[in-house]
Amino acid sequence: MNDCIFCKIVGGQIPATKVYEDNDFVAFLDIHPVSYGHTLVIPKEHFDKLENTPEETVVKLYKLIRRLAPAVVAGSEAEGYNLGLNSGAVAGQVIFHTHVHIIPRRKNDGLELWGEKEYQGNMMDEIAKKIRAAIKQALN
Ligand code: 5GP
Ligand code: ZN
Repeated sequence: MNDCIFCKIVGGQIPATKVYEDNDFVAFLDIHPVSYGHTLVIPKEHFDKLENTPEETVVKLYKLIRRLAPAVVAGSEAEGYNLGLNSGAVAGQVIFHTHVHIIPRRKNDGLELWGEKEYQGNMMDEIAKKIRAAIKQALN
């Protein structure tokens, strides 16, 4: 946890361009923005990823994001936003301290959303079956 860059930002050991702070959360500009105004929102307490973050913290985090995101858009003079959360190295998570990306969007900003695939045969039903079983187990 001592090596965590975001813990160091929380602790003030490394600088960040903060746009919001309260007792439990900090929001600051991403150092390599996908778009100008790209903001990261993090709990001050260290959790490595979403599923290891207490439910109560996640609820508070998203309640805060609901209010911050339109203000980030307004301050960035943008028109909309994407929320992003990368979980696991394979999904592009680089910093293992729970964080949500607020990415301001503007018309013709050149950013593209993910490509689409097509399900073949009964693949959709097969995958849904497995996901339902996993969800059933997870919610038990
Ligand atoms: P992830 O890929 O883990 O979801 O996102 C981590 C984000 O943190 C990246 O977008 C990266 O640009 C940003 N980042 C990494 N190191 C620093 C830093 O020292 N300061 C700030 N402000 N952002 C950082
Ligand atoms: Zn941390």
